[in-house]
Amino acid sequence: MPSKEQTPETNVIPQKSFNYSELTEIVAKAVASAQIQLASTLAQQGDQNAKVLAEALRESKTPYVDPKHIENEKMMRDQMRETERRKRAAKRAEQEACPHLQGSSPESATTLPYSSFAVHVLDSSEVIGICTNCQKIISSRRPEDLRWFKVKSTNVRSAAGQRTFYDNQIAIKSRQMMDDELGTAIPDVTSVEGE
Ligand SMILES: [Zn+2]
Repeated sequence: MPSKEQTPETNVIPQKSFNYSELTEIVAKAVASAQIQLASTLAQQGDQNAKVLAEALRESKTPYVDPKHIENEKMMRDQMRETERRKRAAKRAEQEACPHLQGSSPESATTLPYSSFAVHVLDSSEVIGICTNCQKIISSRRPEDLRWFKVKSTNVRSAAGQRTFYDNQIAIKSRQMMDDELGTAIPDVTSVEGE
């Protein structure tokens, strides 16, 4: 047969099969050369194209989020914030109206002339009181609260152990403040009344 008379190489080469690692190597080489070609083309065309490509690559990696989903989430956050604001405003209004006297809750039959504040001495020597009716917190730090400490009470004051601080004022100020102690966190009560 004439084919057998041809050189053996022409028959062998088309039948050559590649194993997996050989194929991987061939593909890697092809990709590398394509990348080099692309890079050199970009270099020739100037930095602008490279920037555009980089930006496109970056954007392709950012997962798509439906703008409506973002809008809904914002609306839910706003609603939750508004609910919380009203809740705090209502609490604030309740505290403003409370006489801070024992038996001043609507469920009590008689109101007594004694203070409803349960008083506690912190380890920083700051004295705080919490109204057992409205949960208002008073502090010896605030001059406007001192009058409440003067009202007679049947509550026995409690006290933490005592600690010595390098700077007692810093220790007192580092206490986490409650809502009604933070002037800036208090929502406007009047805006709720009108609703
Ligand atoms: Zn009260």
